[in-house]
Amino acid sequence: MEHIANIVTADLDVARIRKDFPILQQQVHGKPLVYLDNGATTQKPQVVIDTESRYYEEYNSNVHRGVHRLSQVATDAYEKARHIVAGYINAAHSHEVIFTKGTTDAINLVANTFSRRFLKAGDSVIISAMEHHSNIVPWQIACEESGATLKVIPINEKGELRMDTFEAMLDDTVKIVAVTYVSNTMGTINPVQDIITLAHARNIPVLLDAAQAVQHISIDVQALKPDFLAFSGHKIYGPTGTGVLYGTTEWLNKLPPYQGGGDMIKTVTFAKTIYNELPYKFEAGTPHIAGAIGLGAAIQYLQQTGIEKIQQWEEQLLAYALEQLRGIDGIRFIGDAAHRSGAISFLVHNIHPFDMGELLDQQGIAVRTGHHCTEPLMDLFQIPGTVRASLSFYNTTEEIDKLVAGIRRAASMLL
Ligand code: PMP
Repeated sequence: MEHIANIVTADLDVARIRKDFPILQQQVHGKPLVYLDNGATTQKPQVVIDTESRYYEEYNSNVHRGVHRLSQVATDAYEKARHIVAGYINAAHSHEVIFTKGTTDAINLVANTFSRRFLKAGDSVIISAMEHHSNIVPWQIACEESGATLKVIPINEKGELRMDTFEAMLDDTVKIVAVTYVSNTMGTINPVQDIITLAHARNIPVLLDAAQAVQHISIDVQALKPDFLAFSGHKIYGPTGTGVLYGTTEWLNKLPPYQGGGDMIKTVTFAKTIYNELPYKFEAGTPHIAGAIGLGAAIQYLQQTGIEKIQQWEEQLLAYALEQLRGIDGIRFIGDAAHRSGAISFLVHNIHPFDMGELLDQQGIAVRTGHHCTEPLMDLFQIPGTVRASLSFYNTTEEIDKLVAGIRRAASMLL
């Protein structure tokens, strides 16, 4: 890994990129911030911050409602953001992009409406053992209320899905498969193309939780063909409180509305309401206008930087981090998948993850500790939690070196 320069990689000028992120310039506890909690949320480039505040400073107004100038400017900017998102994931139509509050909101939308229309006693829903709570609990609620059964694809000791078992699980009772593209805890990249092909062979729709994928991996929904795909704006360098549900026109039209209110209607009488067309049918009420526009700016920033270059650098950084971390005495990785991205979970000897996290924080290093909203996965590994370092393209090998030195220092104090 000596060929990896600290800052300037062959294609990505990380030093220049870091200047785009004001928050990265600060010190924490007197040390330069080493931000390795990107799986929880990513930092925002100046252009996203400026785009959001420009909306409030210059054209704050409600969308889809006014004929006045500001409302038209706001509506145009909001719809342009939808086009940018659609282009980024290569959706066939921008009306297949529904703005939501985040991944959780997007999955709840599908679980709620799908179960109301399509689930009944005797049916089943398939998720996996590595799902985030937000791709477990909405389906549990859906199953509880419809009488359907929740089935779970098991994983092997490396944290990879058991695809042979998955195939065997696909019987006539299965009405939908909802799995994560990338595990937020272990970084496993799941074979989503195979999952979709196998499910579609039985006419079963697939929802992908892309919360940890869309910022690391180039996704073409027309090639991959998920029926639904959910992600959060704040994990892809955009504002909090924003997110996306992509759905095919066919499936979105089949689902009943989620929430009722303004914007999702064509006409309302006390006798009957005619719902609006896509995407507005699923966007009841005033949306997070500034946030959606900011998300558009974040995606444009990624496109200008180049998602392939980002992917390449993050892969090199991940390989470097794994290699360096492996040298730490007593380290145990939770998840060791052949294909992975973004996150590295580990424990060192019997040190509690919180203690490790606190000592790293004192050195200016931000990592995540705990169960990462994947409690069933922690139960499988019979651990209370992990320390998780999660990477972004603005991270450097120098920061990885600081993490490794920080872990060694913390271990020497705690053991
Ligand atoms: N799914 C995965 C894989 C995640 O990592 C997260 C966030 N940690 C979520 C869903 C939920 O995202 P949000 O809290 O932004 O709705």
